[in-house]
Amino acid sequence: MTMLLPETVSVAVAAVAVDAVTSRMPVAFVSHSDCGLHDTGWGHVEHVGRLRAIPSALKYHPELFGDLLHHEGRHATPEELALGHDAAYIERVRTFADQGGGHLDPDTVVSTGSYLAATASVGCVLDAIDLVLDGRASRAFCAVRPPGHHAVHDRAMGFCLFGNIGLGALYALERHELQRVLIIDWDVHHGNGTQSLVEHDARIRFVSIHQSPWYPGTGAAHERGEFGTLWNVPMAPGLSSTTYTAALWQAIDNATRDWTPQLVLVSAGFDSLAGDPLGGFTWTAEDFATMTRELGRRTRHWCDGRMVSALEGGYAPAATATAAIAHLQALVDDAS
Ligand SMILES: [Zn+2]
Repeated sequence: MTMLLPETVSVAVAAVAVDAVTSRMPVAFVSHSDCGLHDTGWGHVEHVGRLRAIPSALKYHPELFGDLLHHEGRHATPEELALGHDAAYIERVRTFADQGGGHLDPDTVVSTGSYLAATASVGCVLDAIDLVLDGRASRAFCAVRPPGHHAVHDRAMGFCLFGNIGLGALYALERHELQRVLIIDWDVHHGNGTQSLVEHDARIRFVSIHQSPWYPGTGAAHERGEFGTLWNVPMAPGLSSTTYTAALWQAIDNATRDWTPQLVLVSAGFDSLAGDPLGGFTWTAEDFATMTRELGRRTRHWCDGRMVSALEGGYAPAATATAAIAHLQALVDDAS
């Protein structure tokens, strides 16, 4: 008995130590003050107030605020942007912003601070991926703008300058030598830009649920990509939220059958909330909490919970912030 005691104690101590390490691994809240420099004007639906609403709402959740690792991201370099974008286009955006900006397309405004904002937006996602893959955070949510999932290789589109999440996936392959990255896009619009950045790489799988017919008009179910790595789920507006949720899980199940991701990236657009001015989906903040918990459970099973999400759309600022808080709280609850 006396011989067994030290071993029993050491096993118990080891178990406590592992548990302590696991429970201390924080969820990161990643942002960059330069994201506010993208000045589209208050008359534009993608204005700076929609981003400011998230930290403002977080102040009313002091326990959640205290649980998060607050991390200021960095600026992506031109070389990192070139993982998915044309070098001449990158330089064109920088020069256009330097010269005072204007419209890059009918929807997409550039101001003098937009290059700094857009590179910070991408840089936050890249930093978040480093945090999660280097074991400094369990999961990460990036509160960033401009959004990214409509930006294609050589062109801005739909409020987006550079492909935050698409670049993140390509960066994870390049920098961290991953072989299997899953992207889930629950924004109400099809992530055509993300699709265009990743569909030529068989190591990335892309699942997008979106309203159809709707902007930008792409994302038909038959768009599977040259390697069959795209799962597009076009849906009519006004259906029950459970219908959208079931359709999304069906696509995720199909994408992960006999294929286990090493990292999950989420284009967390909250314009798929009921009442958003730019969409007709019916999800609620509680639905996003439920989906996040379930995705957390699956991600733990797939890849030790490694998940990075980034804000895309969401044009009712208060509702977007409420959903972002619900998403964050679910990340924290699931990780602890
Ligand atoms: Zn959207």
